[in-house]
Amino acid sequence: MTTRPLPLADSMPAASAAASGCHGGRETLEAAARAAGKGELLDGMARDYPRGPHDQPQSMCPAFGSLRVGLRMRRTATILSGSACCVYGLTFTSHFYGARRTVGYVPFNSETLVTGQLFEDIRKAVFDLADPEKYDAVIITNLCVPTASGVPLDLLPDEIEGVRIIGIDVPGFGVPTHAEAKDVLAGAMLRVARKEAAQGPVARPTNAITDRPTVTLLGELFPVDPMGIGALLAPMGLAVGPTVPCREWREQYAALASPVVAAVHPFYTAAVREFEAAGRTVVASGPVGVEGTAAWLEAIGRAAGVSEADIASAKQAALPAIEATVAKHRIAGRVTVSGYEGSELLVARLLIEAGADVPYVGTACPRTPWSAPDKEWLEARGTVVQYRASLEQDVAAVRAFEPDLAIGTTPVVQAAKERGTPGVYFTNLISARPLFGAPGAGSLAATVNGAIGGAVRLNRMRSFFTGVGTGAGAGYGHTEVPVERAVTSWKPAVKKAKDDGTMTDIGEK
Ligand code: SF4
Repeated sequence: MTTRPLPLADSMPAASAAASGCHGGRETLEAAARAAGKGELLDGMARDYPRGPHDQPQSMCPAFGSLRVGLRMRRTATILSGSACCVYGLTFTSHFYGARRTVGYVPFNSETLVTGQLFEDIRKAVFDLADPEKYDAVIITNLCVPTASGVPLDLLPDEIEGVRIIGIDVPGFGVPTHAEAKDVLAGAMLRVARKEAAQGPVARPTNAITDRPTVTLLGELFPVDPMGIGALLAPMGLAVGPTVPCREWREQYAALASPVVAAVHPFYTAAVREFEAAGRTVVASGPVGVEGTAAWLEAIGRAAGVSEADIASAKQAALPAIEATVAKHRIAGRVTVSGYEGSELLVARLLIEAGADVPYVGTACPRTPWSAPDKEWLEARGTVVQYRASLEQDVAAVRAFEPDLAIGTTPVVQAAKERGTPGVYFTNLISARPLFGAPGAGSLAATVNGAIGGAVRLNRMRSFFTGVGTGAGAGYGHTEVPVERAVTSWKPAVKKAKDDGTMTDIGEK
């Protein structure tokens, strides 16, 4: 394998990028990436994943989103190219979440980055892995430093012995959240699948069981939700299609074949672009609560060309049961909602229909057309909707609105509990249960009421532990407040050590 040295002008950004990371600063890495020829890529990301009102929500390394999407696909190999510390964190987290799959890693050092050897190492790794007996696709991801250094994954072959090679850049300085990183990979794979489908017949998905027109669902959903949505669609002669991001390569063809796509999670900008390029109609929001389900069935039915009578039948079949469930499972209390999953606005709608007062919803995701109906619905009921919400905004909302329950990310929940306000972690407790149709209405109320009811116990614990583990007492085994020692100069200490004859103990330096 020959080494392809980068010209000097190219190697300079590589060298400066090599010395950076999360801590290196967005501007440094972005400037390096632009100098290394990734300007067009970054401009595209800025369009797809707009920042603001502040630069970037605080969340984990965005690349975890795309890594997870790849690791959940059958017959798909995943390779990371990035700094060892980034790869360590990402693989640790992926195994913490039960990846049970090898994550490939192409390491580098300053020399292999600057000389271009890293690209050759990636190329070799891809060729070594691309076994059609085992894989449909190999995904190779450039993390921050290789992206900033301009490592050209687009020069890899599109396929090796029938195994697709998907190279993506997922830099933290270009993709704001791990939610949107999912879209980077989902969009890249759909793009390849769409082009394959345009060239001729493609493989039928192994689990295709319907000949009815389908509705593709966009977003990672709780497993029973697609089944529930299928039941909602049935009276309109429609069936539920694949969920994107897909679990196997062939599903992407079926996803693209659905005439209608439901953008249940609203941040899949690149994926939506592929569906629209395939001529599909994309529908916003999701079937949440009574009003949300009614509006969604109408929008889906019209997009699929279903008659008004059949739309009415679907509503008649679904809404009474949801109405009854919402009426039975009431929520009394004020709840703030924040998260980075993309379903925050839908959860808030359901809470409000169940009787909760929801003054604030913060989401790390950007504002897109696919959550517009939810934003409008919430704002009409006095809820503040904050896109690209920062931790500070979420915590400020908890302070300002003094809710009975804060649903949020880990640090928001921690801040709430420190105040004696019950908190529930969005990802583990809200996303991990059904959200749509009647099951969603019943399940959410049980969780929320249980958490609100825990306030007395929380405050008993809080008063028991008052002063423990905070301030100077934070950490293991600290029982005394450290005495601050103002050192004005090291010279007296050295003089004293010399006088005492202990200088050899503390060294001469
Ligand atoms: S890849 Fe992730 S962890 Fe590494 S520097 Fe970029 S944002 Fe930070």
